[in-house]
Order: sequence, then C-alpha cells, then structure tokens
Amino acid sequence: MMVPSSLWSTIMHDLLFCKFPATPDFEASRQAALCENPANALSSPTSGRQKRALGQFSKFWKPGRTLRIAFMNEPSADHKKAVETIARQWLRYAYLKFDFVDGKQGEIRIFTDIDSNHSHVGTDALLVDSHDGTMALGAKPDDPMFARTVLHEFGHVLGLLHEHQHPQANIPWDKPKVYAYFAAKGVDQQTVDLNLFEKTDKAIAKGNAYDPTSIMHYAVLQEQTIGDWEVGFNQKLSKKDRAFARRIYPRPSPAEM
Ligand SMILES: [Zn+2]
Repeated sequence: MMVPSSLWSTIMHDLLFCKFPATPDFEASRQAALCENPANALSSPTSGRQKRALGQFSKFWKPGRTLRIAFMNEPSADHKKAVETIARQWLRYAYLKFDFVDGKQGEIRIFTDIDSNHSHVGTDALLVDSHDGTMALGAKPDDPMFARTVLHEFGHVLGLLHEHQHPQANIPWDKPKVYAYFAAKGVDQQTVDLNLFEKTDKAIAKGNAYDPTSIMHYAVLQEQTIGDWEVGFNQKLSKKDRAFARRIYPRPSPAEM
C-alpha cells in the first residue's frame, strides 16, 4: 500500500507525541495505582500462569468509577460533543462512567488547542498537577484520523499500553531504515527505541495475544519493515480491544448489585 504523504504527519505525530509522558516518580505512580484499584498489583489480569514481575503494576481504574472529563481550553460545543461521542464507544465494553463536566476540574483534563496527541496512562493522571492537562488531543473533528486518535488516547486513559510494543509483537522492523528516516526528522534513536522497538513488560501487557488490529497499534509501513509486513491505520476498537475492556472493567453480576 502506498501511504499518502499526508499520513506521514500522522505517523510522526504518533511517534513524536503519543509517547507516555515520563512518570516523575515510579513509587508515586505505583501508590496511586494500588490505592485506586488493588487489583493493579496483580501483574496480569487474565493469566495466572504468567509470573509477576517484581514491582510491576498496571494502572487501571476501579471498575464502575466515574471519571470526570474536563476541557482546559474552550473548544466549540460541536468539537466537545465529537470527542465525547467517540470516547464513549469504550463504555459499551468497559464498566466505567465518563462525566463530561463544565469547568476545568476533572480527573481527565484535555487540551485541544495544541498540535499533538498524547495522554497519561490510567491512574498516572492522578499525579498530574490540577492546573495541567492529562491529555493533549490536537486532532480536529474534520481530520480523517480524528476517531482513531480519540479512541487511542482514551485507550491510554483506561490504562492501555501500545500494542506494537506487546511482548509477543514480532514486527520485522527494518531498524536502520527507521532510524535513518526519523533522524532526518530530528528524532533521536533513543526516542525511536522507546516508542517503537522496546517491548512492554510481559506482566503488564494486556492478557490477550498480540493484536495487530488494536486501536493501540501504530501504523507500520511496508517500507519500514523487512519483507511483506505492514499494519494499516486502525480506525476502530478491535474485537480484542473490546474483550479486554470488558475483562479489565467488568460489570458487577446482578447478585452483587
Ligand atoms: Zn499512544
């Protein structure tokens, strides 16, 4: 597939901006995660056979909890509505509530007047100063990548990590080519390693098998790989994304309600 040059900017956005903001304090991050949801100490939500990695933890919210979502600038009502409608797709599967509030107080605080897209992962949002945003959502509603971007960033809100860094992802990257391409754009090797090549710890990856159709997967271009291998611009929640959201945020059974 030839990739239109306009899409390169999206890939650049993915790589340059959709990285996790560095967690300032590993211990604070762990405490916030465990305080919110003790199940975060369980390194794998699904497989008891996977060994726990010492000190590792996930960053999922307590199932059923309400996340207040605020906009830190003043996007139009239509723009807000477009974000809300797409973000809510996750809630068909995840037992959480999104309360899109007026004002700037919320666990999730979004800036849209920005030229980048990234989000803190799950409970790490609790560590961010209340005057700062937890998500940059620069994609505009008329952008063909808007839905993909909103779903992806709200995947991070739910605590999901990048799928192309799944421990079972064996992407046949043509690394010298990828390094050279991004070097020409001023991106150093370390940033490329961190956001493309490094694998997530097995213990905190989602319990599913690797899923190249996940909304949490970056596009991978044919010319960045060896042989015949690529991943397109996934536009919707995959079957495994939906199953994972259900499993991490299960609805209470009627007996528990
Ligand atoms: Zn991302």
